[in-house]
Amino acid sequence: MLNNEVAIVGCGVSGISASIHLSRSNIPHTIFERRNFIGGRIFSFFDEKFSYHLDNGQHIFSSAYKNFFEILTELNTIEYLDYQKKFYVPFIQNNSKKFYLKSSFNNSKFGLLFGILVFNLLTLKNRVELIKFFHKFSRNHLKNNYPVALDFLVKNEQSPNLIKYFWEPFCTAVFNSSLSEIPTSLLTNVIRLTFLNDKNKLGFVFSKVPLSQLTKSFLSYINTKSIVDIRLGTSITKIKENNKSFILYDQSGQAYEFRNIIFCIPPNFLSSLILEEWKNFEYFNFFNKIKFNPIVSIYASFNYEFCKEKFAHLVGSPIHWVFNKTRIENIQNSSYLYSFTSSNSTELMNQNNLHINEILLETINQYFKPKLKLNPINIKIIKDKFATISISPEFEKVRPSQLSPIEGIYIAGDWTKTELPATLESASLSGKLAANFLLNKLKKI
Ligand SMILES: Cc1cc2nc3c(=O)[nH]c(=O)nc-3n(C[C@H](O)[C@H](O)[C@H](O)COP(=O)(O)OP(=O)(O)OC[C@H]3O[C@@H](n4cnc5c(N)ncnc54)[C@H](O)[C@@H]3O)c2cc1C
Repeated sequence: MLNNEVAIVGCGVSGISASIHLSRSNIPHTIFERRNFIGGRIFSFFDEKFSYHLDNGQHIFSSAYKNFFEILTELNTIEYLDYQKKFYVPFIQNNSKKFYLKSSFNNSKFGLLFGILVFNLLTLKNRVELIKFFHKFSRNHLKNNYPVALDFLVKNEQSPNLIKYFWEPFCTAVFNSSLSEIPTSLLTNVIRLTFLNDKNKLGFVFSKVPLSQLTKSFLSYINTKSIVDIRLGTSITKIKENNKSFILYDQSGQAYEFRNIIFCIPPNFLSSLILEEWKNFEYFNFFNKIKFNPIVSIYASFNYEFCKEKFAHLVGSPIHWVFNKTRIENIQNSSYLYSFTSSNSTELMNQNNLHINEILLETINQYFKPKLKLNPINIKIIKDKFATISISPEFEKVRPSQLSPIEGIYIAGDWTKTELPATLESASLSGKLAANFLLNKLKKI
């Protein structure tokens, strides 16, 4: 048995974040990760057909991701990020017409408000409704006693067209959920952070490298700290209480004893692990409210660059976003690599790959009107049924804090209480909060 004070179970971004925050206070710990690699839901793999490292799914960050960027800074991979100089989102219609929502004259909320005024995908009436909304929002004059985002928007004079062309694409991408399932409190928090921060920092951020490269250096980071032990390919399958400590068992039956455990795993993995008697605590009521929303990602290479934008929203398409990987990652190849994302994609999830392929080609030919009908050189479809947990208003009510009622048990993950949608920023913040609760117990902060 190991003689460590602390175990971290799961080495996705929340586990990495917890480990970094414990390491900063010199707390020895052991990390257990089920797979042979770290990163959790952000990883890349080499695909023979594409002869390139593809991601498990396209990720995009907001410049408001303070905690995630803090981790990448610690891992020395922050330089792999590409920040938009100005907030800029191309919207493409199915007649190939383009509209740009971008901040004008400067990159502050005022620049964005002016950008909305000239964003002519929306009617003038809709643009005025949107500007009034942001104005009232920043002065705290909105009616916000509606728990569901859709009601909140409707009651604050956002008309159906405005919801369809602005709020739906924005919220589906950020929350991977539908407006009728998003809590108003989370939406208002995201609006504040994304659109109304005062620091001239609006915009999106891309990874210029395949995702695994963002977190890979965590292994050398912990190597330099001789206080961290990592066990890859080690799945924790059982836990037992033993006086004031806990015994963890891995898949081969090996036992490890710890006084404190930070679980950094999704709730569906957690539910089979924790002790039945713990579930009597009200805290664990969240297990009854878990629902996942899927994401479908499509990678395709072509011999023609039909979209030169780094990314764009496809208005009204079941395939919501196109990303020009060749430009984002500066790939030197004779073909052009694109990724396509469909968030909360119940529609595509149930289609077979052949049909998704047809929808993709139809979409490209409609939205980009290439001179010749395009056919992909290679195509790969990745369906993730469990991409993110749905943080519905019901779930938000029981969303667990990182501090559990069981002394010595802490829980982190994008789905835990952070007042953020289930994103990399939420995962990073949750790991930090869990580590801080533990450090507080150990009186290290
Ligand atoms: C396709 C897709 C697209 C996304 N797009 C975006 C985006 O654009 N922007 C954004 O911010 N977020 C995006 N997300 C969400 C983001 O990836 C997650 O919020 C984040 O990676 C979650 O990190 P985590 O540490 O909470 O969980 P995870 O990454 O799931 O980490 C949990 C880890 O625990 C391990 N584990 C599980 N059980 C055990 C066990 N019993 N023993 C040991 N180890 C175990 C797992 O193997 C895993 O490594 C996307 C997610 C997906 C799937």
